[in-house]
Amino acid sequence: MQVLKFGGTSVANAQNINKAIAIIEQAIKKEPAIVVVSALGGITDVLLHCAVLAAAGDEQFKEKLLSIEQRHLEVVKALIPVAQQSSVLSFVKKNCNEIEDICNGIFLLRELSARTKDRMAAYGELLSSHIIAARLKTGGIKNTWKDSRELVATNSDFGNAIVDFAVTNRQVTAFFSTQTGSLFVLPGFVAADRNGITTTIGRGGSDYTAAIIAAAVDASAVEIWTDVNGMMTADPRLVSHAKVIPHISYQEAMELSHFGAKVIYPPTIQPVMSKSIPVWVKNTFEPAQHGTVIENGGAGRNGSSIRGISSIGKIALLSLEGSGMVGIPGFSKRLFEALANASINVILITQSSSEHSICVAVEDPYADRAQEVTDKAFSWEIETGKVDPLTVEKGLAIVALVGDNMKSHPGVSGKMFGALGKNGVNVRAIAQGSSERNISAVIATADVKKAINVLHEEFFETTYKQVNLFITGVGNVGSRLLGQLHQQQRWLQENLLLQVRVVGMANSRKMLFNDDGIDLASWKDQLQNGDAMNLAGFIDTVRVKNLRNSVFADVTANDSVASSYDLLLQKSVSVVACNKVACSSSYSYYKKLKDLAREYNCQFLFETNVGAGLPVIGTLNDLLRSGDTINKIEAVLSGTLNFVFNHYDGKKSFASVVRQAQDEGYTEPDPRLDLGGTDVMRKIMILARESGEKLEMEQITNNSFMPASCMQGSVADFYSSMEKEEAHFKKLFAEAHAAGKKLKFVARYENGKAEVGLKHIDPQHDFYHLYGKDNVVLFYTNRYSEQPLVVKGAGAGAEVTASGVFADIIRAGR
Ligand code: ADP
Ligand code: ASP
Ligand code: MG
Repeated sequence: MQVLKFGGTSVANAQNINKAIAIIEQAIKKEPAIVVVSALGGITDVLLHCAVLAAAGDEQFKEKLLSIEQRHLEVVKALIPVAQQSSVLSFVKKNCNEIEDICNGIFLLRELSARTKDRMAAYGELLSSHIIAARLKTGGIKNTWKDSRELVATNSDFGNAIVDFAVTNRQVTAFFSTQTGSLFVLPGFVAADRNGITTTIGRGGSDYTAAIIAAAVDASAVEIWTDVNGMMTADPRLVSHAKVIPHISYQEAMELSHFGAKVIYPPTIQPVMSKSIPVWVKNTFEPAQHGTVIENGGAGRNGSSIRGISSIGKIALLSLEGSGMVGIPGFSKRLFEALANASINVILITQSSSEHSICVAVEDPYADRAQEVTDKAFSWEIETGKVDPLTVEKGLAIVALVGDNMKSHPGVSGKMFGALGKNGVNVRAIAQGSSERNISAVIATADVKKAINVLHEEFFETTYKQVNLFITGVGNVGSRLLGQLHQQQRWLQENLLLQVRVVGMANSRKMLFNDDGIDLASWKDQLQNGDAMNLAGFIDTVRVKNLRNSVFADVTANDSVASSYDLLLQKSVSVVACNKVACSSSYSYYKKLKDLAREYNCQFLFETNVGAGLPVIGTLNDLLRSGDTINKIEAVLSGTLNFVFNHYDGKKSFASVVRQAQDEGYTEPDPRLDLGGTDVMRKIMILARESGEKLEMEQITNNSFMPASCMQGSVADFYSSMEKEEAHFKKLFAEAHAAGKKLKFVARYENGKAEVGLKHIDPQHDFYHLYGKDNVVLFYTNRYSEQPLVVKGAGAGAEVTASGVFADIIRAGR
């Protein structure tokens, strides 16, 4: 004998039922079968909702009742030939009339007991199983319908009755020993107490019915037919890459289901495990797939030590603390007794080794009651100050890592908490079962999806890691960056095992989000049709989305964006800044951001703040990390000024050369920042700060070559004033030229001091041969004392800057 159970989705409508029928037909060719059926998908909820509405005096229950009847009638009409419909139709009508009578009773009395709820809920399975039995019969497949209430015996704890296995086994064997048929159809979920009153065995309990019957008849196997390809490494609704687990042990399956893997109702495993009956979890809609087999030794056949990750929501954490608890036996016993007496189920327990506190997790709805009974049980200790009143924290969830072989693999918990920590998931409590089959962490409900995905990536993804990227600023540099990302997406996935998805982007007008990744072939059109940009809203969305491996890239030059970095880093979102504002604002903000990145285990990277794509900051950091000391930095750090002085020879006006630099995209959006030396000051300050100096802008000497008249008014005024001052610029050039020297705007940092200014450079100097928009940085260090370490190359330009941002994103992502 084999037992097949079909879940709610598998019998949700006529089309699905026909798929189930085909599976049954195949199965009985091998062996006689017992088929256990759930209610049509969702019907149990509707039935219970009707009862609740009626009890609340809400007449809308009538409409809902009609929809229940309608759904069943439709299924019958679609499944069964007209000539044979009448008896099934009248069965449906008779039962629906009963349901209506009960609801009217509830409505009149405004009272709904657990017993009546069970009575109502039972109709779903009674109706569906009857219809399926009739469908089989009219299709020429002989079968016997049997009411499970005559087989499965329970106590009278309505709502969640406990099965009486002695009576049940007796009833089941007595019934089947008299039967000669080869196919039986039974309603799942329903049972009866010793007085024959209808009970139910817990939501999702049809799985349990199948297991109970299978154990009683010593079935060869149980097949749970559902809507997924088996038990998976995580809930597929939360983790899109979840994989089917082909083999799993009873203990692992039990642990996973207890910790939230709803695909199997937790008590299901117990009866079949005691008889070593294998359980298959299979997909009604893809029957050819292997599915999962739960069996003895199932774990050893997979290779990995972690079998799956699951979660339970709506948890509250109760903490009992107090100095009076230390060394005195019996505190925990009294706590658990108080909870047990109030029928409150404890899901997880941790006790610190100081014995100063005990922490237990319970289901959220029981938290207030738990507080009441505990405070009562410890009233004397609370009064005398030995114990604090129970603290209750709600809005929590548990994530659990499950696997039989974890005990023989050290480091699993380190890896687990490391991965959670890196993604800013705060762990409120931890428990590891002594079986070491489960490590559980209590976390905020808002972090569940992220946590599960982080853990899944850490333990199951051999393919790639996903980086979720948000970009503000998609102008000159930003759009090149998107182009480069688009072009490199495949390469990154294949070679670095990184999948970089742009999940949010914005310019000053519009913003756009897509968790599946914005298609980079058409981002412009999509952004055009996005929502109106609002920076606070954008930052908030990044925070609320709470995606794993989040990176925020700021490709604007905007002050407000820069002043939001702290909000992101505090959520463990790495920040890649092309924008120089943050690092060149007050030292305290710069330091705060660096500290936040360290504290929240994420990255704050800004390589492109100095020398665009050139590895300047990276090189400086490498020198310092390896123990070198920076003695002096000399640099030409303005691509713009270099371009200008390399092109200006007194023939074309100075203003027109500046304009050319702006037109070719080398200047800041406001070119006065370049010409006046501010941009270079910012850069040398950042290098000084990275070298460990607490430097502010006011402390940097700026020997500006710009006449004061040019630095007032608008950008347009700036250009016209420069035209007026042409003689000044010509003189600067002529003086240098006459001496055989070139003009370079040089930054220097030495002995804690920084200065910038125009210098005459003679032909022997490293700076002399510096062309176009190139930058050069000379690091004089203890190790590079005679000849400096030189970093040189293009120091401005959209493409190279974008590539520097790109490199930082990859660094942050890894
Ligand atoms: P049925 O109605 O067939 O009993 P359920 O809805 O009770 O089906 O259980 C199947 C569902 O369980 C799947 O659709 C899936 O969304 C969910 N689920 C949660 N965790 C897991 C997991 N680890 N593996 C497979 N499915 C899971
Ligand atoms: N129909 C019941 C429920 O919805 C039992 C089941 O589906 O297994 O809980
Ligand atoms: Mg189920």
